[in-house]
Amino acid sequence: MDCIFCQIASGKIPADIVYQDEEIIAFRDINPQAPRHLVIIPRKHIPSLEQLKENDSALVGRMVAVANKLAREEGVAQKGYRLAINCGTEGGQLVPHLHMHLLGGRKLSDTLG
Ligand code: AMP
Ligand code: ZN
Repeated sequence: MDCIFCQIASGKIPADIVYQDEEIIAFRDINPQAPRHLVIIPRKHIPSLEQLKENDSALVGRMVAVANKLAREEGVAQKGYRLAINCGTEGGQLVPHLHMHLLGGRKLSDTLG
């Protein structure tokens, strides 16, 4: 599997990992768009939101819970932050492995794109 996020999840390529459990990994984005920019992924290779199965709902719920915990740890929970999942070409998804962005640490754009 040459998926870059699967390779991060399996430890084949390095990343600045800030959280991991049996289902989820989070690491710092290599090209941060905000002072705090984390990427939260499932270990399981799900190509995009579009390929989510009904029984993946709990996993996505856990990704949100992990993101919220990390927002507190990163010190952005009080002032605010944004969670974003890009899906497909027009949605701005570059890496075809489901991931959630956690952005914070500055006033983010009032528009979403
Ligand atoms: P997206 O445009 O939603 O697919 O976002 C992919 C994100 O992954 C981008 O913000 C990239 O900067 C980030 N990214 C790509 N490769 C790596 C990597 N090896 N380590 C950390 N972040 C990465
Ligand atoms: Zn993958």
